[in-house]
Amino acid sequence: MFSQFALHERLLKAVAELKFVEPTPVQAAAIPLALQGRDLRVTAQTGSGKTAAFILPILHRLIGPAKVRVSIKTLILLPTRELAQQTLKEVERFSQFTFIKSGLITGGEDFKVQAAMLRKVPDILIGTPGRMLEQLNAGNLDLKEVEVLVLDEADRMLDMGFAEDVQRLVDECPNRQQTMLFSATTGGSGLREMVAKVLNNPEHLQLNSVSQLNETTRQQIITADHNQHKEQIVNWLLANETYQKAIVFTNTRAMADRIYGRLVAQDYKAFVLHGEKDQKDRKLAIDRLKQGGVKILVATDVAARGLDVDGLDLVINFDMPRSGDEYVHRIGRTGRAGNDGLAISLICHGDWNLMSSIERYLKQSFERRTIKEVKGTYSGPKKVKASGKAVGVKKKKTDAKGDKKKSVAKTPTKRKSANRPKSDSLVSQDGMAPLKRRKPEAPAAE
Ligand code: AMP
Repeated sequence: MFSQFALHERLLKAVAELKFVEPTPVQAAAIPLALQGRDLRVTAQTGSGKTAAFILPILHRLIGPAKVRVSIKTLILLPTRELAQQTLKEVERFSQFTFIKSGLITGGEDFKVQAAMLRKVPDILIGTPGRMLEQLNAGNLDLKEVEVLVLDEADRMLDMGFAEDVQRLVDECPNRQQTMLFSATTGGSGLREMVAKVLNNPEHLQLNSVSQLNETTRQQIITADHNQHKEQIVNWLLANETYQKAIVFTNTRAMADRIYGRLVAQDYKAFVLHGEKDQKDRKLAIDRLKQGGVKILVATDVAARGLDVDGLDLVINFDMPRSGDEYVHRIGRTGRAGNDGLAISLICHGDWNLMSSIERYLKQSFERRTIKEVKGTYSGPKKVKASGKAVGVKKKKTDAKGDKKKSVAKTPTKRKSANRPKSDSLVSQDGMAPLKRRKPEAPAAE
């Protein structure tokens, strides 16, 4: 019941009018803390009811008799026009029985009309960073008396390149007493940096049930031109990253063997695990890895299932796994028991769409990383759709060297049995029950 919160009766009336009965989990967790004036860092999805979670306490703070407004008291920043418009609507619904006024500043709207709205000084200003800065630079916006700042969908704002704009706007609010930052994902280093700069001793509320991924694992992608280039990147990472133990995942046995061979040739203490290795090999590899005699394991998914090795803090996806769940399995091996982990996926032109669909599935955004010593020419698609997928890129087959194959007429059934490299047995190597396959495997798969 919303009456459990110490909210002003006019707000409870609005809540009742909207037919909200039970607070959502994010509301139950955030409203009491926000009412106390605490800084909050909330990880929650769109649709979780997070708007009400921050706006009700803000309205409670602002509520009072009708008076001449002299300064903007609350600033709410969001990544897109649509989200800003939706938020304005929501704020107006909750403030319908109060004298509180809200305004909207986004791109695509008349600049002068916005300036006129700003002259009337709304209590709450909602908008996107780009246009907000333009209004500020034009001398139309004064944020000096802002008491509460909300950064909503902060991870997306960073993804969209608003980091600097947001920081400038934050700096324009020197007298703020409370800051609340919401993101759908746990984000990468950019978000952590923002949290550290902007929030003051925040309470962290994690209400994100979709992701089972460990918070302490950083997730990065590095773009690569082809498989040989990926091999160079792997070498660089293994030579330069700080890690106790590393695992390199491939989708095929052939590639696992190839990488393993290269590592051994460079005197790395490594092991390879895939479906052709027997139980004895597997046990030996795991024991040596556990004891620390071997630091690097090259493995395919099937072979690595159930592997639980302490100190495994670097995961390299030489190939992107074919499903979000498989990704979670691979990455779940790092960052255990609160230890920091690093997961790096190497992304060629042909991997991009799979990577972006995994990002969407996980509602996470991987950190883009470039290593100047091994930088290639490919840096992602020129244009991406709203889904994050490349515009106009058709799936192209690549061989082990990453060279494009000539297109072949579609004969899936024949190809499967004739040309396909041997698949890993789906019977667990431990002699346990057969493992269920989630999806039919791709022709070149393990
Ligand atoms: P949001 O995540 O803030 O975008 O909210 C998603 C939708 O859920 C919006 O349409 C809200 O009006 C609605 N909503 C938020 N909180 C509740 C609630 N406690 N009960 C019913 N609907 C809600």
